[in-house]
Amino acid sequence: MTALTKQFPREGIWMQTVPRPTPGPNDLLIRVRKSSICGTDVHIYNWDDWASRTIPEGMVVGHEYVGVVEEVGSEVRGFSVGDRVSGEGHITCGHCRNCRAGRRHLCRNTQGVGVNRPGSFAEYLVLPAFNAFRIPDSIPDDVAAIFDPFGNAVHTALSFELVAEDVLITGAGPIGAMACAVARHAGARNVVITDINDYRLDLALKMGATRAVNVAREDLWSVAQSELGMTEGFDVGLEMSGSGAALNQMLRAMNHGGKVALLGIPAAGVTIDWNDVIFKGLVIKGIYGREMFETWYKMAALVQSGLDLTPIITHHYGIREYQQGFDAMRSGQSGKVILDWEA
Ligand code: NAD
Ligand code: ZN
Repeated sequence: MTALTKQFPREGIWMQTVPRPTPGPNDLLIRVRKSSICGTDVHIYNWDDWASRTIPEGMVVGHEYVGVVEEVGSEVRGFSVGDRVSGEGHITCGHCRNCRAGRRHLCRNTQGVGVNRPGSFAEYLVLPAFNAFRIPDSIPDDVAAIFDPFGNAVHTALSFELVAEDVLITGAGPIGAMACAVARHAGARNVVITDINDYRLDLALKMGATRAVNVAREDLWSVAQSELGMTEGFDVGLEMSGSGAALNQMLRAMNHGGKVALLGIPAAGVTIDWNDVIFKGLVIKGIYGREMFETWYKMAALVQSGLDLTPIITHHYGIREYQQGFDAMRSGQSGKVILDWEA
């Protein structure tokens, strides 16, 4: 079959012919229809320090996808040939304490699809049936193909009560922009998002942000006070940039008792002013992946109750045009980029 792989240990991704994977007794064989490009795939493309330490040579990359079940392992219950599915990209061990308690997102032994095991930039993907999620008929392929990053947004945004709260989101990448839609849908009052990239701030406005602030030229707190009438600070903070500057700005802008969820992955050595945390009594929660599988049910319900993800999908390419897809994603002038295997 055809797949996009990390054929060589340098910048780039290559289209290769690789053996079609064979499902085990507990697996599904999924024929991939669409797969979108994640920031992680860009790290792998760029071959940064993390990627060169983590990705084995020849790895089939990609983990955001929608496809159709083509084969069902002999021990699998609950899935049939023809089911339209996406899937949880974190493969958990099932035997650590958290897994046994049902807290699979906290597994100590997580393996990543398209990172540690073959991924979804391929005609076929083998996935443990446990990790598959059937897509309701009313949800289109494009939207299902971005459920993985949407799940990061949902998991982070719904970590804390949002109704009537003033929410600050730092980082208007695809996940931050989707978090705007979740926060608005869930009943937040002001949803303010920051970035230093105007293209992305515009996208966040299309996704429902009440105010987008370019912190390279505007002062966040002046905007919050003078335009939004805020006097005390933000109630909920969602850090989605990985920037240390953004994290510190967020901690300063939080009200006393504020709650902060951290999704963005900072570089080593980022420091914060602990006085903001201690004297304001902030609650800080780290977020990894999606809750299995509560986040997935919530995603489906949010879309089915009217949350519109389509503005965040800015580019479509046939799989053979994958290079253009990666170029768009690496330019910073894109939302989600979807590669279509059937085009
Ligand atoms: P992205 O890189 O596309 O978006 C990050 C955005 O932050 C960019 O638009 C960038 O311009 C902006 N930014 C940079 N400096 C800023 C500043 N000072 N203030 C405000 N914004 C600033 O990333 P994404 O795909 O949307 O993912 C968001 C973050 O979440 C990334 O750090 C990613 O690595 C991380 N992530 C974490 C998990 C997890 O499980 N914890 C999963 C997926 C992604
Ligand atoms: Zn485990």
